[in-house]
Amino acid sequence: MNITIIGAGYVGLVVATCFADVGNEVVCHDLDDDKIARLSRGEVPIHEPNLAPVVTRNRLAGRLRFTTSDALAIGHAGIIFLAVGTPPEGDGSADIDHVLAAARSIGRLMERPLLIVNKSTVPVGTADQVRATVAAALAGRGVDIPFDVVSNPEFLKEGMALQDFMKPDRIIVGAESAHALGVMRQLYAPFSRNHEKFVAMGTRSAELTKYAANAMLATRISFMNELAHLAGQLGADIEAVRLGIGADPRIGRQFLSAGIGYGGSCLPKDVRALIRIAARHGQHLRILRATQEVNDAQQHLLFERLASYFNGASALRGRSIALWGLAFKPDTDDMRDAPSLVLIRALLAAGATVRAYDPVASGQARRLLVAEHGEARCAASVLFASSAQEAVEQADVLVLVTEWQEFRSPDFRYLASTLRAKAVFDGRNIYDRAVLDAAGLYYEGIGRTDDR
Ligand code: NAD
Repeated sequence: MNITIIGAGYVGLVVATCFADVGNEVVCHDLDDDKIARLSRGEVPIHEPNLAPVVTRNRLAGRLRFTTSDALAIGHAGIIFLAVGTPPEGDGSADIDHVLAAARSIGRLMERPLLIVNKSTVPVGTADQVRATVAAALAGRGVDIPFDVVSNPEFLKEGMALQDFMKPDRIIVGAESAHALGVMRQLYAPFSRNHEKFVAMGTRSAELTKYAANAMLATRISFMNELAHLAGQLGADIEAVRLGIGADPRIGRQFLSAGIGYGGSCLPKDVRALIRIAARHGQHLRILRATQEVNDAQQHLLFERLASYFNGASALRGRSIALWGLAFKPDTDDMRDAPSLVLIRALLAAGATVRAYDPVASGQARRLLVAEHGEARCAASVLFASSAQEAVEQADVLVLVTEWQEFRSPDFRYLASTLRAKAVFDGRNIYDRAVLDAAGLYYEGIGRTDDR
């Protein structure tokens, strides 16, 4: 099939690559000249494990092309995916301007019947708005070309994106016509033997399914984070509790880790957006508001722990804090809404300096922090180390922020000899207190026995 993907970001690029890899002719379109130029000359602008060789293989085979031309992108295909960003507005609502802008371009340029598939995460009712936008553009041209709008939210996880798309748990397709459903079934057949993963529904249900999934995941995390506080106070260990409840198949093991709060480009924004969607319909989503409230507090927890360890936030002035990990989770360079930023902001406001190391996200983090604090302030307060070891040199304490594989088994004796205050704050509960004790290090996790 000839397919166009509009938006070459974390989702669009993966979707385009996977569809090309199973034999489709794919054009991937983006407004960002630099991104398209890099992709066209063989660079992959994001860090996503295993993606680069598959992009290259398909680009060289001529099945995957990149363009900034609306006309080329829209003229190429009978199926056009929208995978553009839907960032939060000031009040938390999802901004669908990019989705509607793409719909307008399609309406202005389409010359043949089309299936328009929305992959972006969008408020319920957006498929109807896309339909109306395309219809208005066609009416403006005085032409009548049939088209369908389908909602096909994406559930891939950054860091596992290729695998998630190639072997999905489910393929949610919201459609209002049997023809559209049939085309989608055929398109996804390579990823779902006998269509067993294919779940068909209406467009509004599909749009809500995406928000419901992320809201449920966020709620599990906040639930465990709240329980972690209680566990710490009761002399229980949240890690033992996690294993204990996760063994129940009704609960399951995933997404039960206590930590420093959820972050990233999806969970925080989708929780806020669903709260706004409900509010617009007169509903106050109490559980989700609590989920968000717990998360906001949790993202400040490490700073509070550090302040308390040094006997007050004012005592952090002049301290040097090493951070291992900046990305919101391992295996990605995505820094959008990363909890590390909340910690760094608070440390800088308290007059501390930061020595940060992340295997791939330092560049993105630096850009964000320079935009917030200016080049000079950032250079004076944050050192982006080129190794985990460099980050801890001359630091007072170490904070484990992101559980990258390379941080899992450090030389604790070296840490004890290097860290001036000989303390490790483990924001992901990956270390064992007994091991750190034996090395002469003070340890605090999240909701572990003997946490203060
Ligand atoms: P992204 O910011 O990485 O990519 C979006 C791309 O769209 C950018 O490259 C931007 O330049 C481009 N764009 C914007 N307007 C355009 C237009 N009119 N024409 C062409 N290109 C345009 O965003 P993302 O992380 O890929 O997310 C895309 C959507 O998918 C969002 O709605 C997001 O919520 C959803 N989603 C994201 C993930 C994830 O893990 N990142 C997972 C599931 C769903």
